[in-house]
Amino acid sequence: MTTIYNMQYHNTLEFAKQQDANDPLRKYREQFYFPQINGRDVIYFTGNSLGLQPKSTQDYILRELEDWASFGVEGHFHSRNPWMPYHEQFAEPVAKIVGAKPNEVVVMNQLTVNLHLLMVSFYRPTKKRYKIICEGKAFPSDQYALESQVKFHGLDPDKAIVEVHAREGEHNMRTEDILFTIEQHADELALVIFGGVNYYTGQLLEMDTITKVAHGVGAIAGFDLAHAAGNVKLNLHDWNVDFACWCSYKYLNSGPGSVAGAFVHERHLNDKNISRFAGWWGHDKSTRFKMEKGFAPMPTAEAWQLSNAPVLSMAAHKASVDIFNEVGMDALVAKSEKLTGYFEFIVNDINSNLKSQISNLEIITPKDKNHRGCQLSIVAHGLGKSLHDKLTEAGVIADWREPNVIRCAPVPLYNSFEDVYRFGEILKNSL
Ligand SMILES: *Cc1c(COP(=O)(O)O)cnc(C)c1O
Repeated sequence: MTTIYNMQYHNTLEFAKQQDANDPLRKYREQFYFPQINGRDVIYFTGNSLGLQPKSTQDYILRELEDWASFGVEGHFHSRNPWMPYHEQFAEPVAKIVGAKPNEVVVMNQLTVNLHLLMVSFYRPTKKRYKIICEGKAFPSDQYALESQVKFHGLDPDKAIVEVHAREGEHNMRTEDILFTIEQHADELALVIFGGVNYYTGQLLEMDTITKVAHGVGAIAGFDLAHAAGNVKLNLHDWNVDFACWCSYKYLNSGPGSVAGAFVHERHLNDKNISRFAGWWGHDKSTRFKMEKGFAPMPTAEAWQLSNAPVLSMAAHKASVDIFNEVGMDALVAKSEKLTGYFEFIVNDINSNLKSQISNLEIITPKDKNHRGCQLSIVAHGLGKSLHDKLTEAGVIADWREPNVIRCAPVPLYNSFEDVYRFGEILKNSL
């Protein structure tokens, strides 16, 4: 028995079942399809990679297919959810998910595309201010995006990109080191950009503090929220974040490669001089169809849109966003803290009973719930891929990263305490 966050945990099936019975979100599990292995639902802990499919998604997509069949081009105006303003229905609910105002968010494109589009506006290097601070070992797509943006401006990535790493022997970056690095490059710094939740360690950064200090030295602050959106409580507007982008297929359960999101703080929306790669869907909608020369941006984050809405992908996004809107991030995070706390307890309990001197399990994700979301990354010391294979055989889908890290995301929307308990039993038997 251990007390964590004022909660007492027990490594018993009875305890897990009791927690599930008391879980106000328990009914949502039934609203998702679980893949099966050997005829049984898997224990799915990879919602951080691809969220499960809501059972409602098919109907949302089918509706658009039917309306396309019935109306053809007229569906832009006459379908049940007219396609012309289709993206507009996301402004309110998605703003709630990321803590923004509806005019500050737009659903469009895919994550890396949005990162590039936002950097076109918010990475404007000058002779003096040209540096970017980011995390070391950032997600590869982000690394390539930053590198290519720097080169696009004729600069040398080795000089322009400054990476913050965890200290020797530590797994997570220290906020003080991030802030120190910002201060160190103050006058030369153009942009500070981090993953809000690190994809590898699960560390949740102090985005408000980082933004404040970045602004203090005259730099812009942006975040990649691929692992944060729908996972942790965000307050992008109040934190004064300049821009952010995220994908919808991880915690936001909108299907493989589905449409992504972008945030631009209100204070930039009426900046007439902002540089931007424009397309017709960013043009003021009242005059868009005059098809005239001269770009007049929408007064919202929609100004960054290029193309008309990918409705089929957005229909899947809508199915999921409707669920998030019903549940709310507060309830989700409240359960998430308990569920991940339980996961942590179970892993530590199993580890403390391990007989082996050479192998052990180490959770590298921060222990403080304010510095993590639902994901825990476990280093399986002295154990190889065979552990992961055994887990998979026994019906656990978790993410394995070479050489020996297992990333597990107990997702509060559809994972249960019993999932965590059963995972523990399988883990014990696999060691
Ligand atoms: C998942 C993820 C991506 C993926 O980018 P796509 O453009 O959606 O393929 C990029 N960056 C981070 C940090 C991610 O976690």
